[in-house]
Amino acid sequence: MPENHDDSQNDASSGTDPADPTVRARNLIARGTIAQRGDTAKEMAKGPGADVLKLARRALRRAEEVIIEVLSLVPPPKPIACKAGCPWCCHIRLTATPPEVLLVLDYIREHFTAPEIAALERKVANVDAFTRGRDGEDRAKQRLPCPLLKDGACSVHSVRPLSCRAVVSVDVAACKRAYDSHMEEPVPQHDLQILAANGIGYGILAGLADVSFSVEDAEMNAALALGLADKDIGQRWLRGEPVFTPATLTRRKV
Ligand code: SF4
Repeated sequence: MPENHDDSQNDASSGTDPADPTVRARNLIARGTIAQRGDTAKEMAKGPGADVLKLARRALRRAEEVIIEVLSLVPPPKPIACKAGCPWCCHIRLTATPPEVLLVLDYIREHFTAPEIAALERKVANVDAFTRGRDGEDRAKQRLPCPLLKDGACSVHSVRPLSCRAVVSVDVAACKRAYDSHMEEPVPQHDLQILAANGIGYGILAGLADVSFSVEDAEMNAALALGLADKDIGQRWLRGEPVFTPATLTRRKV
């Protein structure tokens, strides 16, 4: 989830005029969230036969569609500066729902070579030793790169989680300042894009709860460590085993 948020750029007004573009955008996001909740509950009600990868792909597609419509209703104040090879924001704590994690794991198994997977396993294990259980504040201080960054770009870009899709910047210099300051400096963002991506994520979690699946928002590196070590993790999760719980725990600071 976004952890470097500048409220001065808040464009998510709380007005009620149905013609107001911001109100229309908010209503669109609400409809997307509700649709995702229903979609998730319907698929997951199939139990171990549920197609969780298809569910995750549909959620990502829905998020992109909602984001495009939201941005057309309420454009950002300046052009979005994000582009491939700009990794400043990929150094914070990243969380994702189990369907999103399973989709990333599937992508890795389908698209990475055996040596690339072995190298990723080593990298994930190294990062895990430093980061397991750390909260967002600690992770900002650590400023460790996401293990999925490769040559400054996301190696799973087409299936990157909703949290990554929530964050956009209109000022790359602000992103660099945030990186240099370990996320103390704010980055101007687009609140409605954050709401849109987070809304779909909430729809996934609410839909899981509706059919009595455990609701887990897993820290990505720990979830990758668990998933890369266990080819059956998806089936086990579908059978109701709390396989991602170790990736959700945050230690108390001492
Ligand atoms: S998954 Fe990709 S976009 Fe998201 S933090 Fe990691 S490298 Fe960046």
